[in-house]
Amino acid sequence: MGSGKVISGSEPFDFQGKHVTVAGLGVSGVPAAKALHARGAAVTVVNDGDDARARAQAEELRALGVTVRLGDGATLPEGTGLIVTAPGWQPGKPLFLAAREAGVPVWGDVELAWRLRGPGAAPWLAVTGTNGKTTTVQMLAAILKAAGLRTAAVGNIGVSLLDAVLGEETYDVLAVELSSYQLHWAPSLRADSAAVLNLAPDHLDWHGSMEAYAADKGRIYQGNRVACVYNAADRLTEDLVREADVEEGCRAVGFTLGTPAPSQLGVVDGILVDRAFVEDRHKNAQELAEVSDVNPPAPHNIANALAAAALARAFGVPATAVRDGLRAFRPDAHRITHVADIDGVAYVDDSKATNTHAAEASLAAYEPIVWIAGGLAKGATFDELVAKSAKRLRAAVLIGADRALIRDALARHAPEVPVVDLERTDTGAMLQAVTEAKRLAQPGDTVLLAPACASMDMFTNYNQRGDAFAEAVRELGA
Ligand code: ADP
Repeated sequence: MGSGKVISGSEPFDFQGKHVTVAGLGVSGVPAAKALHARGAAVTVVNDGDDARARAQAEELRALGVTVRLGDGATLPEGTGLIVTAPGWQPGKPLFLAAREAGVPVWGDVELAWRLRGPGAAPWLAVTGTNGKTTTVQMLAAILKAAGLRTAAVGNIGVSLLDAVLGEETYDVLAVELSSYQLHWAPSLRADSAAVLNLAPDHLDWHGSMEAYAADKGRIYQGNRVACVYNAADRLTEDLVREADVEEGCRAVGFTLGTPAPSQLGVVDGILVDRAFVEDRHKNAQELAEVSDVNPPAPHNIANALAAAALARAFGVPATAVRDGLRAFRPDAHRITHVADIDGVAYVDDSKATNTHAAEASLAAYEPIVWIAGGLAKGATFDELVAKSAKRLRAAVLIGADRALIRDALARHAPEVPVVDLERTDTGAMLQAVTEAKRLAQPGDTVLLAPACASMDMFTNYNQRGDAFAEAVRELGA
């Protein structure tokens, strides 16, 4: 970790008369175009699609005096001095290649929000990672609120950063969730403190390689003022801290599920403890909360709680607020949600486990498990996941388009585990899957929906998949 000359990125940027191209209508594009227009920029919005929704949005913007070009998001409009892009737009798009050639900078919605913050604006505590972002940011906001601070969970979740920065509400501090896409397009963002929860291959088609993905995630640490929080069990996150250019005096703080070393937060005898933000950390530790205060107290979720606690403590929050905030926190639906107990068997919905890394975390939280898995694999392989989880499995029930990949991995690494392979992929298949799981489960077991796959082959999204599971469980329990 080096401290070098950091460009603050907070210099006021004068948009007056600038030709700004907004790439992509939609969630962030419309408010971005409006904000830029209000600051005197000459705004052109370009959008690939030309559907009814885009036309309605275009009409609204044109009425304000914004130029909108539908059906062509590839060509760089003449005279563009800056592009503000929707975060999901891939860096390889022709628009960006043209921008690079012309020396035109590209910002995402996060960069724009960062640049539009007023003087004395609330500092950001930022969170990224392959899995656990939403949960951690919500835990962090709950802790900050318990400390009496005005705050909100914003970013890649609920409230957009632009709304938070430009809205009426004033905040003391923001708990910000950032995706790797958003970080890619946020070159001058400087968080007060930031955490990378974990790093596993994901979205590699967008970033191009694991190195590029990691480098984009690592941007979250650039220019941190107080603490760079990393996962002591994940070397990659620690490497990113080491490579980061931060403000003088910024500290590297690890979190671990084991006993914490000095400058770490960790767990001792069922207690979450802080050995980073205490006087004389070589001799002292501060008790923060009990493991049972974390909801649910699954290992990966305790890690999320420790990361949230580290960011809050870096901001000066007292230990009691960590405990009160964690107790007040309620996870969003479909994230290790306990649905019911039937005949001594627990039914748990982790439909949000849409990749193997997430599924591995929830499989590590139970034993023995009847595992319901499958869906769209998105190019993933399942050998590592199955090999690591094999000894916890009572049985597996496979659904969805790419279930054969999981079946083959089970055959290789867990040949003794009974497998039910459901061929149907209609939505009613979930009832059959849960019926099979119920038949295979014994008292004390957990039937766990942790698909390790996306849901779109059978469902609209992971919410619908989780709802179908819960409905099936209720039907069987009635
Ligand atoms: P994100 O916002 O990064 O998608 P969420 O908090 O919504 O993360 O959790 C998504 C899923 O990832 C959860 O359902 C759970 O299966 C898994 N998960 C949550 N936290 C972690 C973690 N720290 N490590 C691994 N997997 C996790």
